[in-house]
Formats: sequence, structure tokens, C-alpha cells
Amino acid sequence: MKRLYIQTYGCQMNQHDSDRIVQILREASYITTDTVEEADLILLNTCSVRDKAEQKVYSAMGRWRELKARRKEVIIGVGGCLAQQEGEALLRRVPHLDLVFGTHNIHKLAQMVRAVESLGDRPVEVAFYREPFYLEDPDGRPAVDGAKAYVTIMQGCNNVCSFCIVPYVRGREVSRPSEKILSEIERLARQGVKEVMLLGQNVNSYGKTTPGELTFPQLLHRINGIERLERIRFTTSHPQDLSPELIEAYAELEKLCEHLHLPVQSGSDSVLERMRRGYTRQEYMDRIRRLRDRCPGMALSTDIIVGFPGESEEEFERTLENLCEVEYDEIFAFTYSPRPHTVSAKMYADDVADEVKRARLAKVQRLQSEISLKKNREKVGSVEEILVEGPSKLRRGQIMGRTRGNRIVNFSGPEDLSGKMVQVRITGASANSLLGELVGEDGVFTTVEAGGTE
Ligand code: SAM
Ligand code: SF4
Repeated sequence: MKRLYIQTYGCQMNQHDSDRIVQILREASYITTDTVEEADLILLNTCSVRDKAEQKVYSAMGRWRELKARRKEVIIGVGGCLAQQEGEALLRRVPHLDLVFGTHNIHKLAQMVRAVESLGDRPVEVAFYREPFYLEDPDGRPAVDGAKAYVTIMQGCNNVCSFCIVPYVRGREVSRPSEKILSEIERLARQGVKEVMLLGQNVNSYGKTTPGELTFPQLLHRINGIERLERIRFTTSHPQDLSPELIEAYAELEKLCEHLHLPVQSGSDSVLERMRRGYTRQEYMDRIRRLRDRCPGMALSTDIIVGFPGESEEEFERTLENLCEVEYDEIFAFTYSPRPHTVSAKMYADDVADEVKRARLAKVQRLQSEISLKKNREKVGSVEEILVEGPSKLRRGQIMGRTRGNRIVNFSGPEDLSGKMVQVRITGASANSLLGELVGEDGVFTTVEAGGTE
């Protein structure tokens, strides 16, 4: 057996791609290791959505130069968005690199590794495919680990947001055939998976480019009918595709968790226009209102970019207003960085100073912290359904899980509850998580942990 060390940057889609890479390479006799020093194969699964993510990749490759000089037989490969973006140029820029595989070429990886091992080649595979065959897993998927699983339903994006590199590195939208998705989820549910996260760069436009395919809400209805499955989530979606049918699905489908990640990016109409997002703040708010009317307990999260080219103080203030107006449960905020090929990088100067970007980011995060704390405190006293994930990362001796609204709850309980659905009474709140205590079947609290506010 040979050893694979894999490092993943970026989003859940990349994390899922890395799981597939591990599975594919297992068939080529590789088992994973957490120690880079003992690896025979080192892979970086990369992200290039923001400049910072890209810089981290280059510094990791720099660190491994010396390792390769000591152990020439070690194979080093780069995959994912940065690999797709740079292609062969990466081999020139990083002389100790052995292989480069793009976002559509994970299925070729075993063959590429063999070409390096036996022929000493330096293969590069960055072709895009129009048919989604490359998203299918090889037969003999290993047993599922845990009660949560990711399922890719589509890849790529046909939108043209001016700041975004995704369409250039993930390609045009392709949707996996619905029967393949459904049979994969049925199999996962039989293996004990209770919650699936449907993945794609723009999941709610599922099926749009495939004549005769189900729409996204229709797909959700079919998944909702799968026996033993208890929860459905998806990420990430575009506000333009939050259709009336999708809003109805939230009201009708008991397995669809009451949480939506709906990136707004900015609260200013003029910035949204420069970003080419295709909606105004009013249109975004109308959709949120309709959603909350049909599904009042809906939890919401979003992405924000601060310091987009030309963003004035006034425009930035509109984003702060939007946070107060929507009262998201959680946000992911980023400073703008120009990306290769993108319209904003070509059309506008990156003219908001770094310190202004950082100050705006801090302001957004401070405000959101207050809002998240307020929203989390409102949950104190309620009883929530939790899918237990395992030991708590922050509170030693406790276990953790998530509410249907995607809030993390830490509470005392045996670790063998992992993978089980339990009822937990919320006893305390911080901006980032909740504290709770288990509720027994008879409604009696089985564990008593002094709650209070953290
Ligand atoms: N499809 C999603 C949508 O429609 O909003 C976004 C997916 S993108 C991979 C994830 C997030 O990265 C975006 O929502 C945006 O906030 C951020 N992002 C993308 N490009 C960026 C850039 N050039 N600078 C800063 N943040 C960026
Ligand atoms: Fe990028 Fe999302 Fe816009 Fe597509 S919809 S271009 S993935 S930000």
C-alpha cells in the first residue's frame, strides 16, 4: 500500500471532490495519511475564487520543494480551480510539480499517477466536458462514514457575475441525470445516511440546460420521498433562481431543512449592477419576504463582498442596512480581490484601499455578530431537533450537532449518540453557537448542564 496526503482548500464542493479523489486512488492502492513526510503522493485540491486562497496554495508548494529534493520518488500534484486556471503553466512555475488535473478530470487521476510512476511523465489534464459523466463515482463506493453525505447534483455556472472566476474554472452548467442522483441518495439512505447536502455552484438552476430533466423543486420533491432519509439541504443558490415553486417546496416538504444560503453580495443597487448580479436590493428583499411568509421559521445565511471596485462609503452603508433588514443568522464576508479573466478585473481598477477593505470587513463582521447573538438568544428555551455529529470542537467533553436551521449546538451526552437524531432544549447562546441539554423521550431532561449565556 502507498500513502496519499491530500490538502483541500475552499468550499464544500472541493471537500467532496477530495473525498472522491481518496476513493478513486484507493483503487490504485493508495491509503490516506495525515503526515506529509510519510506520503508517496501529495495532492493539493485548490481554490482560486479569492486571491488569498491562491496564495496559500503557492506557499504550500514552496514548503514541499525541499521535501521533493530529499525524496525524489514523491509525487506532487495539483488539482481543482487553480489547476484549471493555470494548466500547463503551473508545471513551468513549479518545477518540482509532477501532475496537474482540472475540475473535470478527477476520474483520470489514477491513470495520471501511474504515468508519473512508470514513465516519469508530467501529465496535465484540464479539458472541459459537456456531458456530466465525469461527475459519476466509480463502482464500489466505500461504506459511508457518518450520517451526513454530500451529493453533487450539478456543476459549473452560466451566470456572469463580474467578480467571479467560477464559470472559467468550473465551466458551463451541467446537471447530473436525476435518476443517478436519486439512486445514489437511496443507496446512501440504506447505508444509514440521514442528511444529504446537495452540491453545485448554482443548485437552484438544476436541470435548466437539460431538456426533459426535472426542475430543482421537482427533484427536491422526489428526494423528499426517499425512505429513511430525514433531512435535505443544498448549497449554493442564486437569488434569481429562488422561484415561487422553490418557496412552495420549503412550505411543503417536511425533510427540506428550514435554512437557505442566499448570497446577496451587496446591499447597494449600483454595486449590484457593477457586479452584474441581475437583481436589485428590492427584488432580493421581495423574495425573502415571500419566503418568510410561507415559511416563517426560515434561517438565512449569505455571502458579502466588501471593497468592490468603486464602492463608496454610501454604497457600503447600504450593505450594513441590508444586514439589519434581513437579520441573517450567519454571513460569510470577504474583501474583494480581482481574479484573472473576470469582467470586473478587466473593466475596473481595484481602487478601494486595502485598509479600507479590512475596516469595512471588520465593521460588517461586528454588526453581524450582534445580529447573530440576538437571533441565537431568541432560541433559548426552545426544543430543537439535532442530528448529532460527534465530539464538540470547542467544549471538551461535550458533543455537538446542528439544528434544522443549521445552528451548531453543544451539549452533554454520550458520544455514541453520533449519527442519531435527538431533541435538545436550548439553554444558552453565543454569536456562533448554542448550548443545550438533552431531552429524554418522556420529556425529562436527561443531562443537566448549567446553561446561561456564554
Ligand atoms: N454561486 C454563488 C453565488 O451566486 O453567490 C457564489 C459562489 S462563490 C464560489 C463563493 C463566494 O465567494 C461568493 O458568494 C462571493 O461572496 C465570494 N467571491 C467570489 N469571487 C470573489 C472575489 N473576486 N473577491 C472576493 N470574494 C469573492
Ligand atoms: Fe460565480 Fe455564483 Fe455568480 Fe456563478 S452565480 S458567476 S458561481 S457568483
